[in-house]
Amino acid sequence: MSELRLVLGDQLNLKHHWFDAVDDSVTYLLVESVNELSYVPHHWQKAVAFLAAMRAFAAELSSRGHRVVYRRLDDADTQESLVATVQSLLETRDFDAFSYQRPDEYRLSHEFETFEFSVSAQCIDSEHFILPFEEISSRFKAGTAHRMEAFYRFMRKRTGYLMEADEPEGGRWNYDAENRKPIGANDDRPKLLLFSNDVEDIVQLLTAKGLKFFGQKTTQLLWPIDRRQSLALLRAFCIDLLPRFGDYQDAMSDQNEVDWSLYHSRLSFSLNSKMISPREVIEAAIRTRDENPELISISQLEGFVRQILGWREFVRGMYWANMPDYPKKNELQHEAKLPEFFWSGNTHMRCVNKSVEQTIEYGYAHHIQRLMVLGNIANLLGVNPYLVHEWFLSVYVDAIEWVEAPNVIGMALSADGGLIASKPYVSSGNYINKMSNYCKGCRYKPTIKTGEGACPFNSLYWDFLDRHRDRYGRNNRLAFAYKNLDRKPPSEMEAIRSYADTLKRNANEL
Ligand code: FAD
Ligand code: SF4
Repeated sequence: MSELRLVLGDQLNLKHHWFDAVDDSVTYLLVESVNELSYVPHHWQKAVAFLAAMRAFAAELSSRGHRVVYRRLDDADTQESLVATVQSLLETRDFDAFSYQRPDEYRLSHEFETFEFSVSAQCIDSEHFILPFEEISSRFKAGTAHRMEAFYRFMRKRTGYLMEADEPEGGRWNYDAENRKPIGANDDRPKLLLFSNDVEDIVQLLTAKGLKFFGQKTTQLLWPIDRRQSLALLRAFCIDLLPRFGDYQDAMSDQNEVDWSLYHSRLSFSLNSKMISPREVIEAAIRTRDENPELISISQLEGFVRQILGWREFVRGMYWANMPDYPKKNELQHEAKLPEFFWSGNTHMRCVNKSVEQTIEYGYAHHIQRLMVLGNIANLLGVNPYLVHEWFLSVYVDAIEWVEAPNVIGMALSADGGLIASKPYVSSGNYINKMSNYCKGCRYKPTIKTGEGACPFNSLYWDFLDRHRDRYGRNNRLAFAYKNLDRKPPSEMEAIRSYADTLKRNANEL
């Protein structure tokens, strides 16, 4: 018997049981596929990081004695699609069996399930997530609203992370309310661990191929490309960043050269490519706190664990329960085009400009920039959710549909009718002014609602609430906002509607 086993670019899990023993009858296949590199215009650094990490993974497997076939983009027998490359190898090398790890994206999973390979294909688990795939259908029902907080508590109890018997450690499940400090210019800043991986050959290869990419091309990649670097990043996070992670989780700033990621871990690429597992990230954070209780309080640690044990596992469940229709959802019936500034950063809205600029430069923006600046303005302008989804899927190094789509369609745009979030994450300029320094130096003023110098987020926010009153008017979490809206005299509402209309019609000029 000889078996071909496929490892996808986001399945670089050296701890998978496949690699426990060397078996000469088994060949591992990794493929650089045109289709995977071009289904959206990926960020340069995302495409390069995946290829560099795949090459490093293949080299590591070979050095451990495994048989490996690596199909580079420019190899003559690499086909455009993954399944076609697999099939051609099955035929030419006469394999008796073929196995693959379950893809995390519906698109690929469906392609593998429906393709008729010449030998029987076996799908096995990727051994990455904490909630087993088989349990998703019993925890998440299609078309049904689920809430992260309930799921998170279930996962805390199930794993025992941050638990004292049946009770949450520290007496509270969630320290979210303590995770909302803005950061001042003179506050301490963390040291960032950035890598400098030489990726010139990959950049040249992709350039020669002529595919369409986005963002800054660089031959020195700052993102981790193997397990060793991912573990180094994790260690650096636990020591240098975790002690303030919770405090500054929602802060946004461009006052210091490290502010593009502040106290965030930048572990999402390592996690999503599976170079490290969610369990080992959570356990490293808890261990570091246990060794340094005076440095790391429960509110910092819980804020971090919640993102991985809670949000990350939750959105994956919601994704699988609601595919394949989920990315096309448009419950608010928004149809506007995506403004050009999403690609260029060319806008006078300083918060948007800074968030897009760092997206171009690093392929990264942290959660609040994605949610409360970029998602927020897209939603307020009424941009068609699928266009926003394609943009987010393109521009971040960590963007893979299973995690991107629920965050965009559900969290940022409320386009799923509230399946994921009980209220839309929209705000006026006031929130951005409170949580960032962006408004200082902006052409617009967060205190002006309409007319010359008015922050576009303001009238667009009230206009959004007004337009969607039928859906949200009785939502308890928006009661305060609607009370304020109702206090506005008709003349002010008229001015808001009319100004918001002008902004929407001229979105490219903002
Ligand atoms: P940290 O702030 O250090 O958080 C630690 C880890 O928690 C992250 O690495 C990530 O694995 C996990 N995490 C945090 N928030 C979330 C969340 N909301 N959903 C799932 N996991 C989470 N994350 C992606 O991995 N890929 C995406 O394509 C993606 N698109 C997003 C789009 C929008 C509109 C929004 C609002 C969020 C998106 N997120 C996405 C979630 C989150 O913004 C990123 O995981 C995070 O910014 C990555 O940076 P970090 O590793 O420094 O995260
Ligand atoms: Fe953004 Fe408005 Fe502040 Fe300008 S004033 S940075 S547009 S929130």
